[in-house]
Amino acid sequence: MSTPRLASGPEGPDALRPLLDTVLDALRTGTASRGGPLPTGGPDAVAARLRDTVGDVLPDQGDPDALRLLVHALAEGAADPAHPLCAGHLHCPPLAVATAADLAVSALNPSLDSWDQAPAASELETRVTRTLAAQVYPTGTPDALVTTGGTEANQLALLLARETRGAGVRLVHAANAHHSLTRAAWLLGLPDPVAVPAPAGTLDPAALDEALHTLPGPHLVAATAGTTDAGLIDPLPEIAALCHAHHARLHIDAAYGGGLLFSDTHRPKLTGLDAADTVTLDLHKLGWQPVAAGLLAVRHTHDLTALDQRADYLNADDDTQAGLPDLLGRSLRTTRRPDILKIAATLTTLGRTGLGTLVDQVCAHAHTLAELVDAHPTLELHDRPTISTVLFRPVHATDDTVAAVRRTLLTHGRAVLGRARADGRLWLKATLLNPHIRPDDLAGLLKLVEGTTPR
Ligand SMILES: *Cc1c(COP(=O)(O)O)cnc(C)c1O
Repeated sequence: MSTPRLASGPEGPDALRPLLDTVLDALRTGTASRGGPLPTGGPDAVAARLRDTVGDVLPDQGDPDALRLLVHALAEGAADPAHPLCAGHLHCPPLAVATAADLAVSALNPSLDSWDQAPAASELETRVTRTLAAQVYPTGTPDALVTTGGTEANQLALLLARETRGAGVRLVHAANAHHSLTRAAWLLGLPDPVAVPAPAGTLDPAALDEALHTLPGPHLVAATAGTTDAGLIDPLPEIAALCHAHHARLHIDAAYGGGLLFSDTHRPKLTGLDAADTVTLDLHKLGWQPVAAGLLAVRHTHDLTALDQRADYLNADDDTQAGLPDLLGRSLRTTRRPDILKIAATLTTLGRTGLGTLVDQVCAHAHTLAELVDAHPTLELHDRPTISTVLFRPVHATDDTVAAVRRTLLTHGRAVLGRARADGRLWLKATLLNPHIRPDDLAGLLKLVEGTTPR
């Protein structure tokens, strides 16, 4: 094999073009060969097929056809969030424009740990993060850090709380909170978190009041705007008032609900968000980005100074004094990919209105699905959706039956539905993030569930 060609430089585009043709063709053939939302046969069948197509992953001699084979295999064996019946998780179908922008990032390979590795990318990140943070915080000098997702954003939020309030700060969260919060408390060596009840799926303010009264402080309260299981939004203004009264710090995990900020119709559901000291956003959920596209927003850019870090090769004092931007404190990572480019491409191509329309569409689809379930003789609806999640189950089914229906649909490659526990029962969860889904698809999904439920 001749020396492999490079992706950037003057020859980069010419080197990439035929390879991109290969990739796009293989995406097409793999997707066609799958046919449905995910591959058939379950884990063993998928593993066997992959083994057969891909063969030795470190052969002695390379195979020029390997790229095509691999991409075909990956597409054939994918759970495709762009398929209308793939609605299990907060796993969005990425926008083509965002994915195309991400290719440019792979080709140019800027790294955001120092200006001399990412001159324009670092400026773009500054502008976009400030703009997004200003969607959360209309006043102040808001800023945001780019993260690998909600998990890393929540970790950073807890770290900033620890650096502000001290190592004794106790996380108080509701039973509906994302698992990454308690995990972050464990990782950071914070006192054992305290869970307050969320009997209706959202944080109970009376229980929070009680907890803040009884537990010794300092406290970090974590509320959720868009629960992973049901898309519910905690009563943010009430929680903010309690935090204020008890001098507790407030973090709001809006990994899911944060996307509502783009919609004039749904934005009021986030009233109170700007009372938080830190807010987690995650544009690979309600933002149609390829993974990873998380953010942690803060009210003032100086709230981030606890993360400042020196490494002579990246941000020597004299370089910083001479005007080279100091980027190292903008992440706990060192080498860091500009996930901001795909986000910027999306924001500028669609505009606020274009993104807001996508949000409105998926919320409307969820309402349609809820109505279809409600009108269905053998299905039960848990509740009207707040965002784009609908919980439902076959009437008179046991939890075991609900779980089995989900797995049967997965194994047969017919549909991807999630599962969630609410009111002490197990439900099927449809997380609708595909703006192109049609009412027929939703009716078809319910038909599948009905047909899979044993009588
Ligand atoms: C998905 C989710 C997270 C975690 O985000 P990742 O991007 O998966 O790391 C955190 N909080 C909530 C509420 C979520 O739904």
